[in-house]
Amino acid sequence: MTSTKNKIDKLRKNILKYEYFYHTLDESIVSDAEYDYLLHQLYNLELKNKELITSDSPTQKIGANLLSKFKKIKHFFPMLSLENTFDINGYLTFEKRIKKLINIDVAVSLCCELKIDGIAISIIYEEGILVQAATRGDGFQGENVTANARMIESIPLNLKGVDIPKRLEVRGEVFMLKSDFIKLNQNNKMNQNKIFSNPRNAAAGSLRHINPKITAKRKLRFSCYGCYFFKENNEELTTHYKRLMRCSSWGLPVNKDILLCSNYIEVIEYYKKFEKKRKSLEFDIDGIVIKVNSIELQNKLGFNTKSPRWAIAFKFFSAERITILNDVKFQVGRTGSITPVAYFDPVYISGVMISKASLHNKSEIERLDLHAHDSVIICRSGDVIPRVLGVIQTIRCKNAKKIVFPKFCPVCNTQLLENIEEKIIRCHAGLTCDAQKQKSLHHFFSKKSLYVIGLGPKIINELIQKGLVKNPIDFFYLKNIDLTKLKNVGNKKSINIINSINKCKQTTFKRFIYALGIPGVGDTVSEKIANYFTKLDELINADILKLNDIDGVGKVISNNIFNYFSIISNRNMVNELIIKVGIFWNNQDRYELNNIKKTYFFHKKIVLTGVFKSFSRMELKRILINLGAKILNNISQKTDCLIYGKNFGSKFFKAKNLNIRMINEEELESLILIEKN
Ligand code: NAD
Repeated sequence: MTSTKNKIDKLRKNILKYEYFYHTLDESIVSDAEYDYLLHQLYNLELKNKELITSDSPTQKIGANLLSKFKKIKHFFPMLSLENTFDINGYLTFEKRIKKLINIDVAVSLCCELKIDGIAISIIYEEGILVQAATRGDGFQGENVTANARMIESIPLNLKGVDIPKRLEVRGEVFMLKSDFIKLNQNNKMNQNKIFSNPRNAAAGSLRHINPKITAKRKLRFSCYGCYFFKENNEELTTHYKRLMRCSSWGLPVNKDILLCSNYIEVIEYYKKFEKKRKSLEFDIDGIVIKVNSIELQNKLGFNTKSPRWAIAFKFFSAERITILNDVKFQVGRTGSITPVAYFDPVYISGVMISKASLHNKSEIERLDLHAHDSVIICRSGDVIPRVLGVIQTIRCKNAKKIVFPKFCPVCNTQLLENIEEKIIRCHAGLTCDAQKQKSLHHFFSKKSLYVIGLGPKIINELIQKGLVKNPIDFFYLKNIDLTKLKNVGNKKSINIINSINKCKQTTFKRFIYALGIPGVGDTVSEKIANYFTKLDELINADILKLNDIDGVGKVISNNIFNYFSIISNRNMVNELIIKVGIFWNNQDRYELNNIKKTYFFHKKIVLTGVFKSFSRMELKRILINLGAKILNNISQKTDCLIYGKNFGSKFFKAKNLNIRMINEEELESLILIEKN
């Protein structure tokens, strides 16, 4: 019991703090989804432990402290909150309950309205003249914001029309258009004033500003969603809808998207329509409100401590959901990179059920400070990719185990190493790590690599499991009898695969480099490397400086290539593939095919600087490579020439100092022309 009491106390303390910020200071220090989740947790705990419910619990009261800068006003009728639900079952339960309470089994007329996200206001008109306005406050008394309300253009100071009651209370929402909110924040940013986190907080902060002139500048709007008459006999105004229409006739703004419904199908259609439309509306809505239309039935149903029994808010799912983390698995990628993945209880976000999200890297786990079984906040970034936004630390179990990044590969137990620049932690066991083996072997024989037709991941996996292959070399020794042992591989398929394996031995340098699957060495980089080195040995023995010199090969990739060939087993494998297996390519292809051996640029190490009138950088590089040149990033003693355009950089002066041949665009054009003819 003490532990439950502690849990309840902790939840209350946090919820009250969030409410104080939200309702009193107009700031959100946690998202609405997190607030709603914690309140829900508290409800559930109190439901199971009724003896622990106290009158000051956030489940029993609404709003928060009133600002002392405003005088207090006692409400004539309590201004309550709304019961809310996020799903259809919650709504159906509401419908069933009201029918049971009023003891009828026929359709009840319901009024559906938009739930505009702003701040509630009560306005009193006497003889049609605005005399008083108050915020909801704690539901029984609110802040006197009469002077501020008078500054809001859409709140009429005088009502117009017929049958205006002697005394009338209207209630509604003061809100800010999304466009006005953006402008306000832009302005505030420029003037180093307070930045509001959403239009709701901006509207609340503006209505409750001590200086009504500031309220006037903030372009607030008002929408009326209810009214109370005091003494008059309004026999003909027997429904909520009729009353709102009457308010509208007196000049009070009433939202046009109100719909009378008589069954749940119509209600759900209305909900779905506005769930779709909400993004394109000029103002924020966080759901719809469904109210019993008959005033007589409303009176019969009455109120409970926090909300009227005749209305419910059917809220839209926020883009964030909260769920329980079940596990974090560390996946090993083809290149050995370790990616943590969070697995959680499935949640439905933007039309999709999701149950896992990548945690990217070690620093993300540290940022989140993840512990086992945490309550985690999930969203879909850009409305697509699942992401763990944060953790609700306040309800973490006392002895929860912290999730730490492993030091050893979860598959092969090799010690993991971190590449600080890449922010990637890798298992360098390569083909000896089972997790990397299957993906690497598939990559080796995939379309852009040595391409063996018919050798898909399933077959490769089976071959590994049967112990028939452990590296690319083994594939070249496979026999018909080996392949026909596999599921779904008959004689014909097996022969086709073996033929394709034999055929793939004749390849290109670029494909071979790509097939090795060195981290960061994709299709384009492989081509650049193949164009730079004439022989495989040169590549195998290149130092980092040399690798870094290749156009398009930065520090990280140079390091990866260097590390790859530093591992003896990798060198041995590459040598065996060439010498024993007999993989080959025509080294001269590039040059001889184009017959460019005699060009001026053949084998020249060239650096480019500046902007060219007639070529983009990419075009120029392609032309020069086709003419046999090697394009380098940096000037050194070994550079043969510098080609410079307008706005050249420091490379120009470096080349000049080293007496390197300099070619301007004019000369370049004529040289290219000569070569082409
Ligand atoms: P509520 O906002 O869910 O619903 C009641 C309010 O809805 C009314 O007071 C009224 O202002 C508004 N409303 C809009 N359109 C209406 C209509 N057509 N008819 C009737 N009312 C309409 O409940 P609440 O008690 O005001 O606030 C609780 C909510 O506020 C939470 O669910 C949460 O989303 C948010 N909140 C967030 C934090 C936070 O820290 N992020 C803290 C406290 C509260």
